[in-house]
This record gives sequence, C-alpha cells and structure tokens, in this order.
Amino acid sequence: MSVAGEPSFRESVDLMFKQATALMDLGPGLQEKIRVCNSTYTVRFGVRLRGKIETFVGYRSVHSEHMEPVTGGIRYSLGVNQDEVEALAALMTYKCALVEAPFGGSKGGLCIDPRAWDEHELEQITRRFAYELIKRDLINPAQNVPAPDMGTGEREMAWIADQYARMNTTDINAKACVTGKPPHAGGIQGRVEATGRGVQYALQAFFRHPEDARMAGLSGDLDGKRVVVQGLGNVGYHAAKFLSEDDGAKVIAVIERDGALIDEAGINIEELRQWMSRNDGRLAGYPKGQHMVDGARALELDCDILIPAAMEGVIHLGNAANIKAPLIIEAANGPITFGADQILRKKGCVIIPDMYANAGGVTVSYFEWVKNLSHIRFGRMQRRAEEARSRLLVEELERLSNDQHLGWQLSPDFKEKFLQGSDELALVRSGLDDTMRAAYHAMREMWHGRDDVHDLRMAAYIVSISRIAATYKSKGL
Ligand code: GLU
Repeated sequence: MSVAGEPSFRESVDLMFKQATALMDLGPGLQEKIRVCNSTYTVRFGVRLRGKIETFVGYRSVHSEHMEPVTGGIRYSLGVNQDEVEALAALMTYKCALVEAPFGGSKGGLCIDPRAWDEHELEQITRRFAYELIKRDLINPAQNVPAPDMGTGEREMAWIADQYARMNTTDINAKACVTGKPPHAGGIQGRVEATGRGVQYALQAFFRHPEDARMAGLSGDLDGKRVVVQGLGNVGYHAAKFLSEDDGAKVIAVIERDGALIDEAGINIEELRQWMSRNDGRLAGYPKGQHMVDGARALELDCDILIPAAMEGVIHLGNAANIKAPLIIEAANGPITFGADQILRKKGCVIIPDMYANAGGVTVSYFEWVKNLSHIRFGRMQRRAEEARSRLLVEELERLSNDQHLGWQLSPDFKEKFLQGSDELALVRSGLDDTMRAAYHAMREMWHGRDDVHDLRMAAYIVSISRIAATYKSKGL
C-alpha cells in the first residue's frame, strides 16, 4: 500500500504521463485531451441475496475513444474505487497503443469480495452488473469490450457474454462483446496464460539485448536468474511457471496474502500452486522452503528479477530504498508509485513498465475479438494445407536420403516436427511473441535513441502517446 503523502494511483499515472509529455511537442490542448478520462459511469444496483437486498457499487470508465471499441478488464475487489478504475483505464489506452491493439482504453470494477459469495450468487450479481452496462452500450462489440482482471476470469466473462446475447438476440457478433471467455463459449486458446506468457516474452526480449541487461548490471539470459514473484494469481503463476520451466530461471521466493515462501534451491511453481489450491490459497505449512510471515519484506530480498504481479502501489516511498532487485518487471498494473519509481531509478534499477510488461492479456484479447468477428478459429483453413506441402518436401528429402551415394540422414525427430501444422495455440503464441518483440523494439529505440529519455517507462509513454496523438490528428482534432 502506498504511504501517506503519496499521490493516488490516478495522480501517479498522470504524473508519469506529464513527465513524458514534457519531452514531447504536442501542444497543450492535445496533451490535455489525451490525458483526461472521457467518462466514468457509476452504477448502484440491488440484488436479492440470502433473503435481503444487497446493494453493490460498480464502475465502467472510458479513458479514450480515439479508437473504438474501447477495452479493459473488469475487476472484482473491495478496493475498487473511481480513482483506481480511471487510472487503470488510462493505462489501458497507453498499453493498447504500445502493442498496436486497435482499441481505446477502458476499465471496470465492482466493489465486492468475490470470496464472500457462492457461484450462483456471483452469477446473479455479475448478470445484473452486466445488464446495467449493456443497456448503456458500455458493453458492446463495436463500442466497449470488457475482459478479465483481478477477481474475474473465464467464468464471469461467459456470464457477461450470455447476458449480452440474451439482450441482443439478433447481433451476429454478440460473442465479440467481451474477451477472456472459455474456449467452449467463444474464447481463444492461450488467453488464460496470455498475460504471464507476455511477461516471459517481455523478459526474453529484454535479455536478447546484452547492452540492455548490462544497464541493470546483468548478463547472459534468463537461465539461472534468481526471481522473486509477488502474487501467485493468474499472472504471477503463469509467469513464474514459464520462466522456471522453459527458461531455467530460479524462483527463490513467492509472496502471497499470508506471507512469503523462500527457497534458494528454487520453488516448483506447479507443485506449490496445487498445494495452495488444496489449502485454501495459503502458503503457510508448505513442506519445502521457509515461511516468512511478513510477506512484504520479501520484496526486499536480494535477487536478479522482481516480479510484482498482484496489485498497485506495493512498492512505495516506504520500501523503495530497500529494494535490492536490479531489474523489476511490472506484471501488475501500477505496482510502483511515482515516488518509488524515482528512488529506484536513481539507484540504477531498470524497470520494465506495466503498460508493456502485462500487455499480453489485451493482445490475446484482441486476437479473440478478431476470431469472434470472423466466426472461425485461427488456422482452420490453412493447417492441413501447410501440412500437405511440408509432407511433399519431407517425402522428397526421405527419397534423397535413401540414396546411398549421397550419404545423408534425416535427424530422428525432423519429420514429426516439420510436419506439425500450426494450431490455434501455436498461432496465438506466435502472434503474442511477435507483438512483444515489436513493442520492445519500439521502446528501446526511444530509450537509446534520445539523450533525454533515461528509462523504459518514459520511452513506453512517448511511443504510445505519439501514436495516440497521430490518431487524433488524423481525425482532424
Ligand atoms: N485486465 C487486463 C489488463 O489490465 C486486460 C486484459 C484484456 O484486455 O484482456 O491488461
């Protein structure tokens, strides 16, 4: 949590924005137009539950409509408020521009503890919230497309999609009204893992440039890097799992609600997650490693990479000076306050900013939206045709390798690998990897190309704001 005297989350985002626009030549009118949040709708609705009417407060904020539809998650948490929703909506605008997802930014939130209600109750609450937003076109495939965020997932998105379809029975594109749906309800393969996968691809992109890694005093690739992850929710779990299983990184600490688990030998993320799901989401009592009750202290552990993957404001004026990680990747939105960001940068810490680091979610949501509008799964037309062409080549190679005079031999698994056509998951991962590489490239060119840009966050803001400004200008504004 941020300490007293720090700007609010929305003010923090605004300050970062202003720091970037001070380095740009936009003109004050346009700058202000891009910065402000266009609208925030607040709804208070009642649902009869457990014999009485419960009143809930929800928000849908639209930050920028320079491109439509606008998009952004819906969060279920007791901490939801207008300031937070507006900050998150602004970040969605900048994030979409940075990864070239053709959307404006929006965000929603419902002030609720999702654990306090059973599944049927949550369905009633979600459908009622969706009803309020749908009837005002705040959920609509052409105007506003929500997605999952903290406290929501495939299940809630499926309810929202169904509610929209019930209220718009002749809309042939109804499924595109929300993303993050389960595959059997119009979703796309790889969406659940997408944000964590994007964090992995972002780190791979970073370490592909030794001179960037050197800025953080690091070298080599991800193999053997010591990682601390805060939050083992959807994003933190997938990021930690992929980094440890695919890249050889060593997760030495996991921070959760009931403290931290520390193990220098490296934590088996899959094993831990399964154990936690059998133990009410708790770390305490896990048979390996040591348990630290004060989880926040584990943010200060000596490590190579710190991954805050839970919520905003966890690195603040009160703890920034103690953070030892030379590289922080913001898997959550806004985990570092404006003041903490300044302290960390002064210490030489490199920060891979949220608007880039966690953009994997919205990127794959974009693919899902396109899939829904085209009404066909990616790869369905091409896959077997590609396989057939590959088979021709393999058979020709086999024929040649049977020729004793040439003395060739195909590698044992070549045929199987080469013949494998790309299914939807492979295409989604390819599209995500390409997106993350391209955005990293744009950011680092700005970072290294200008003497007055000293960090990746400023670079990301400038790339993103320039693109938004260009869109506004082309509209004649
Ligand atoms: N909640 C996600 C975020 O903060 C949005 C994901 C999406 O649009 O699919 O980026």
